[in-house]
Amino acid sequence: MNKADSERMAGILEAMGYHEAAAELEADLVLYNTCTIRDNAEQKVYSYLGRQARRKRTHPHLKLIVAGCVAQQEGEALLRRIPELDLVMGPQHANRLEALLTQVDNGQQVVATDDNHILEDLTTARRDSTICAWVNVIYGCNERCTYCVVPSVRGKEQSRSPEAIRREIEGLAASGFREITLLGQNIDAYGRDLPGITPEGRRQNTLTDLLHHIHDVEGIERIRFATSHPRYFTERLIEACSDLPKLCEHFHIPFQSGDNDVLKAMARGYTVERYRRIVNRIRERMPDAAISTDVIVAFPGETDAQFQNTLNVVEEVGFDQVNTAAYSPRPNTPAATWTNQLPEAVKVERLQELNTLVERVARQRNARYAGRVEQVLAEGVNPKNPQQLMGRTRTNRLTFFAAEEPEGCRYSPGDLVAVQINSVRSFSLSGTPVQ
Ligand code: SAH
Ligand code: SF4
Repeated sequence: MNKADSERMAGILEAMGYHEAAAELEADLVLYNTCTIRDNAEQKVYSYLGRQARRKRTHPHLKLIVAGCVAQQEGEALLRRIPELDLVMGPQHANRLEALLTQVDNGQQVVATDDNHILEDLTTARRDSTICAWVNVIYGCNERCTYCVVPSVRGKEQSRSPEAIRREIEGLAASGFREITLLGQNIDAYGRDLPGITPEGRRQNTLTDLLHHIHDVEGIERIRFATSHPRYFTERLIEACSDLPKLCEHFHIPFQSGDNDVLKAMARGYTVERYRRIVNRIRERMPDAAISTDVIVAFPGETDAQFQNTLNVVEEVGFDQVNTAAYSPRPNTPAATWTNQLPEAVKVERLQELNTLVERVARQRNARYAGRVEQVLAEGVNPKNPQQLMGRTRTNRLTFFAAEEPEGCRYSPGDLVAVQINSVRSFSLSGTPVQ
């Protein structure tokens, strides 16, 4: 989501006439889009800012901006810490960058962190890829997971209208994009704040309705979405994903902990049993589906046995990919105030143990691709080998393959290529194109 925000802000700057500088320490305007999900993410920005603040003393024309979630969390305190800053702007203000910069040009030091209705995006994002695009569908989060800073920095849920989303996707298709990923912190909440009940009394404008609404946009070959919340994931959604051909067989469903008491303390609102049922239902309908997840280890009070339950779920479900993290206390979150915090050594040890298991499980899962022919959407040239293209399977596996076939057929980014997989690693595949 931060990448998507960065691309929108870069688009605004380009429309204003800015272009990319040769180096970070040569730019006339520097904007850091920050993350505060864990403390180590937050600390990074302070070291970057220190260097730029020193440069500003000799280059007073430099405009220095902190955007994103650290900006939202710290607000005015950032100005006290780094008086050289021109603008501090929370993630809900990303689309207002131009107006905020006008205030800076008028000589003001600006802090934009008030609750803000996010304007429908009128600018064109400057996207890093020419093939795959992020599309925000719901901003903010109304959940209250006890470890998580997101609701306090990204604000209340706000869904974009299905019409605006479809218009953006049509525009992307017209510019040559082939794949879109719909984004929301809790994407299953999409549409709750929009009006509409069907004659049968069912809520309209759910994520499933949205998928049906956008599915036929011509030129878009693949549709993904993230992040799914196990509390709200529905049977209708699984059916839509298996019925609609462009929907890729990849689900990102964080389970966070494999222990019901820990899940309760996290206020996640589901049990391990419910999580297993979701996985089983997906696999009944789509046996080859890839499932990825997020896990937190060493949540306050987590016992060895509870941690073992997490390992058991990782092993038993057989995830294709797992984002792992040690619990990090965050400002304005309940869990940060609890007295049963675990020592750093336990965090490090559990994280290592989990990562070793994750790698083994991912390697076992990847073994199923050996010898198979997979449809790969070429996204670009392999930076380490210009003779190769790289792309992803429908199940989101990174795949490298020769750009040119022995018969002389040449592939380019944007092509859907049938690739025979002949080499399998833990986190990527390699293969050769087949006719
Ligand atoms: N909205 C998504 C996740 C957003 S944050 C969801 O509900 O799943 C991305 C991931 O960061 C989370 O899934 C969680 O695993 C991790 N995370 C969030 N807060 C954390 C914290 N305080 N310490 C460690 N990891 C955290
Ligand atoms: Fe954070 Fe929970 Fe919202 Fe995800 S659902 S962003 S973990 S509060």
